[in-house]
Amino acid sequence: MNLLDTYTQVCGESAIDHLKQLAAPLKGMKVVHINSTAVGGGVAEILTKFVPLMRELGIDACWEVIRGDEYFFEGTKKMHNALQGKSVEISDDWWQHYEQVNAQNAEEYRPLLESAPFVFIHDPQPAALIKYFPQRQGKWVWRCHINASRPYRPVWRTLKPFLVPYNASIFSLATFARDLPHREYIVPPSIDPLSDKNIELDPAEIESVCQEFSIDLQRPLLVQISRFDRFKDPVGVIQAYRLATKFIPTLQLVLAGGSATDDPEGKLVLEEVKAAADGDKDIHVLSLPSDAHRTINALQRAADIIIQKSTKEGFGLTVTEGMWKGKPVIGGNTGGICLQVINYHTGFLVNTPEGTALRIRYLLKQTDQLQAMGKKAKEFVRENFLMTRQLREYLTLMVGLVDNAKGRIEL
Ligand code: UDP
Repeated sequence: MNLLDTYTQVCGESAIDHLKQLAAPLKGMKVVHINSTAVGGGVAEILTKFVPLMRELGIDACWEVIRGDEYFFEGTKKMHNALQGKSVEISDDWWQHYEQVNAQNAEEYRPLLESAPFVFIHDPQPAALIKYFPQRQGKWVWRCHINASRPYRPVWRTLKPFLVPYNASIFSLATFARDLPHREYIVPPSIDPLSDKNIELDPAEIESVCQEFSIDLQRPLLVQISRFDRFKDPVGVIQAYRLATKFIPTLQLVLAGGSATDDPEGKLVLEEVKAAADGDKDIHVLSLPSDAHRTINALQRAADIIIQKSTKEGFGLTVTEGMWKGKPVIGGNTGGICLQVINYHTGFLVNTPEGTALRIRYLLKQTDQLQAMGKKAKEFVRENFLMTRQLREYLTLMVGLVDNAKGRIEL
């Protein structure tokens, strides 16, 4: 079976028909995606699926990865952190190197990039490529996957001139966007329903994961999957759990995150969480390896309620993942969680441990509500936050850019 057929089964026929319609005027067009890594991270994950899907839709899509040395990537990491708001100084020498590396890559891909009708440049690492294509024929789009809403100013000021010549830019949320002198599009992230993290699992696999961690599937279970980070408020989740156990004494809680070995702050937070759990055998604080996708999938499926009690959040993919498993989400009233959690429909937005406990109690006492909200949550994700929706928006903006003069899209 080809990819489109497989996605039809999960996303529904109309979603795929819509993609086919949008792709029709783009048939045969070259579309180049450029980023800075072939594996690891959300961008590579998305492109791994997007490029073959676009090809099946008749678009001549390809994906190239820029090359750079260690010095280049040390600096781009700093730039990434600076765009997310950290005060990091970047030397003039590095900025020169940044241009040099982009110039070298420009030579490597010159014929392809000069003539392609569409070039998508992902994130800031390859953003300077455009400078070396004054004769470019296509539309160039800068896709920013990071939260650049409050960048460290000196770094943003140096990067911005490289972004100005683009025909358009895409940000994940309106609040993440920067002011640039061209069309800006908001395309929220999405999940891949066929990835290990989200694919349907056999009940036996869910049971075996629960057994491994001594979780009792017969008793109610709350699950929060998150890096051990204070903004995810894991200690607040424990407080909420404790308040809720007064009414539901059989309650269990899973707080699962990465092993945090390479993150000194994560290690500290993990210790705080363990201290707050205080040996309660129904609080399972799990440090998982970075590739534990199926384990996370199983835990989310084992849960009665997904918690994401962040006090600050970007988009909150764990919310999407939980909702896709048909679970209501009790989420912090912040960032992208508010786009996904609709009070009384797909879950509840909360601000405090007390509010969280109140909603836990409500849902576990009204099991028909819990089921109904879980169902709605899944449909809400199917409609809005699957990869096919993100692809639909890319295609729409491409058709819009081609049809520039008309100001409307004809299908
Ligand atoms: N995740 C994971 N292992 C962990 C913790 C999180 O694989 O130990 C995944 C989680 O399933 C989600 C992503 O990492 O896909 C986290 O994205 P989110 O937007 O929720 O939060 P961020 O960590 O980007 O702030």
